[in-house]
Amino acid sequence: MQAKRIYLDYAATSPILPEVIDYISEIAKTIFGNPSSTHAEGRIAKSFLEEHRKTISSLLKCNSSELFFTSCGTESNNLILKSSVSTLGVKRIISSPIEHSCNLQCFKWLQKEYKTQVDFLKVNEFGQIDLEELESLLHDNSQKTLVSLMHVNNELGTLLNLEETGHICRKHHALFHTDTVQGIGFFPYNFSELPIDFASGSAHKFYAPKSCGFAYINNQNILEPLLHGGSQERSVRAGTENLIGIGAMSKALSYCYSDLENRMTHLEQLNLQLRSLLSKQFPDILINSPWHASSPKILNVQFPYFEGIELLTIKLDIEGLSVSGGSACASGAETASHVISQIRPDHPGKAIRFSFSHLTNSEEIERCVSILAKVIH
Ligand code: PLP
Repeated sequence: MQAKRIYLDYAATSPILPEVIDYISEIAKTIFGNPSSTHAEGRIAKSFLEEHRKTISSLLKCNSSELFFTSCGTESNNLILKSSVSTLGVKRIISSPIEHSCNLQCFKWLQKEYKTQVDFLKVNEFGQIDLEELESLLHDNSQKTLVSLMHVNNELGTLLNLEETGHICRKHHALFHTDTVQGIGFFPYNFSELPIDFASGSAHKFYAPKSCGFAYINNQNILEPLLHGGSQERSVRAGTENLIGIGAMSKALSYCYSDLENRMTHLEQLNLQLRSLLSKQFPDILINSPWHASSPKILNVQFPYFEGIELLTIKLDIEGLSVSGGSACASGAETASHVISQIRPDHPGKAIRFSFSHLTNSEEIERCVSILAKVIH
C-alpha cells in the first residue's frame, strides 16, 4: 500500500474544514437571493450578509462598517494601495522588498502610472526591518505617505510588531497598511485598538474556500472602488457579494478563533520538532525563520548547495511530500523566491518552506525528515 501523502504547504492554501463544507451546503440550499434586491429573498440574503459581516468584525474587533468583502487577498491589497494613491493623495510609499508580489506589483504600477515615490527599507537575514530606519525615512516627510508592511511574511513567517510600527506611522502622520493575509485566523487582532489604517484577509488561508477575502479600511479613510458598477459594499467594491464564500469565511474564522491558544501551541510543537530533527539530520542547514519572532505555522530552511538541488521540491513531491520552494510561475515551474534572494543573496543552496496546520501531526514531521534524508543523501 502506498504511504499517505504529507501536505506541509498550508501557507499556500488550506483544505476546507468539514464543518465549513456542511455549512456551505446549508447556505446553498437556503440562501439564493441577491442581497441588493428589495423583495423577501433579497432581504434574507442581505441580512445573512450583514450577520456574517458582524461576526467577522467582532472576531477582528472592528466596526462592521470597516469591513469590505472582496474576491481575495490580492484584490484587497490592490484596492487599498491603488485607492490610497488615487483617493487619499498618497505620493510616497515606504515598504520592504520582501512583501507579497501582489503588493510589489502594485508599487511598480503606481510608480509608472502615478509617479508615486517608493522607498524600500533594508531587511536582515531573517527578513526583519529596522524600525529606526523607518523612523528616519519618515522624519523629514513632507509628502503624504503610506507605509505598507506585512504582518506575517508568507515565506519566512517573520513577524512585524504592528503596535510599534503603527505608532511610528501615527507620530509622523503616515497611513499604515498591513497585509495580514497570513496572520488572520492565527493571531488575535484588535483592529480598533491597533494603530493601523488598512489590513487584508483571504479565506483560503484559514480553511474556507478560495476567491473570497476582505479589506479592513478604518472609518477615517474613504476609498474609491477599483471595480465600478453597483453600490455593493457601500460603493467601495461593486459586484454581487459571494454569499457562500462569505458565510464559509465567517464560519471558518469563528472556528480558528474558538481554540486559538491550543492550536498555536500545537503549531509551535511541530515547528520545534522539525527544527530539531532537521538540524540533527542536516547540520549544514540555515534556518531562515527567526524563533520567537515568527509565526509557528511557517518554517523556512536553507539547504546547502549540491548537484541537483534545483529539483529538490520535485523529488520530494514524487516521494509524497508537498512543500514550497519558491513561487509557481505560469508554466508550472518554480521560480527563485524574491524573498530568499533578498535575505541570502550569495547563498547557492535552496530554501524550502514547510508550513503546518492543526491537521498536521508529529508522525508526519518524522516522515517528512525521512523523505528529505532519502532524497538528499
Ligand atoms: N498576501 C500574502 C501575504 C499572501 O500570502 C497571499 C497569498 O499567498 C496573498 C496576499 C494573496 O492572497 P490571495 O491568494 O487570496 O489573492
